[in-house]
Amino acid sequence: MALRKIVSVPEPVLRRKAHKVTDFNKDFQTLVNDMVETLRDAPGVGLAAPQIGISLRLFVMEFGDEEDENIPKKLYVFANPEIIQASEEKVIGTEACLSVPDLAGDVERHTWLVVKGQNKQGKVVKYRFEGWIARIFQHEYDHLDGILFTDKAEKVWQSRPEETEEIRD
Ligand code: ZN
Repeated sequence: MALRKIVSVPEPVLRRKAHKVTDFNKDFQTLVNDMVETLRDAPGVGLAAPQIGISLRLFVMEFGDEEDENIPKKLYVFANPEIIQASEEKVIGTEACLSVPDLAGDVERHTWLVVKGQNKQGKVVKYRFEGWIARIFQHEYDHLDGILFTDKAEKVWQSRPEETEEIRD
């Protein structure tokens, strides 16, 4: 495994619509492993392939609280994700992004989602996400269409990296 370099704005790949994942081969497995390692090293809670300069519809997210058994830490890999259903209800929360250094912002997102995608092996997976994990999913999903949280934020402000470590996607 190897760490990949995280690219930042205004890198053009962050603004492109990413391509579908078609091969779940050995190179893909290496890419996913590297993304997980890069996410943990950052550290962050989500990382999309365009953020390491690769225009593929792929992201990883890892969220949970080691001290709270109600939210065990879990790793998700999503290739070719889709949002099947989204709540009408929306909620505002603070986000930051590994590719948008030193900024944070308040973004309105769906409260819950039903999503599907393919895992590391290419198997179709389906989940219902609610709360913070639903927010992370929406942030990462936007990356695959070249959208950044600052495009949707109602308010953006300067923030020190240590303040945003918990919320960076
Ligand atoms: Zn991001």
